[in-house]
Amino acid sequence: MEEKNLICISCPIGCHMTVTLDNEEVSKVEGNTCKRGAAYAEKEITNPTRFVTSTVKVKNGQVERVSVKTELDIPKSKIFDVMKEINSVEVSAPVKMGDTIIENVAGTNVNIIATRSVK
Ligand code: SF4
Repeated sequence: MEEKNLICISCPIGCHMTVTLDNEEVSKVEGNTCKRGAAYAEKEITNPTRFVTSTVKVKNGQVERVSVKTELDIPKSKIFDVMKEINSVEVSAPVKMGDTIIENVAGTNVNIIATRSVK
């Protein structure tokens, strides 16, 4: 048996949880106030994922950068590769909110999309 301490990031309350692992599987979650905490703990232990937000350079736009994010959450282990690809990209204005900026970023099957428009 092994115990891990986690803070739930599913809402601003941030419950402190203790997760008990039995043969690397979650056998008990304590400290969560609601079911979302237990679901988060299970996922964080077995397949941790994150949304990534950043910015991309814009050529000939009213501003120099456009904010972007992953369309879905990606494996935590891929964050470095995703950021490297985001930092290597430059797009030309105009950019519309929701435009796909990078398809299948870092082989994750997730797209990077613009979260604002730039003329
Ligand atoms: S366990 Fe529930 S109440 Fe606590 S931080 Fe997570 S979502 Fe919020």
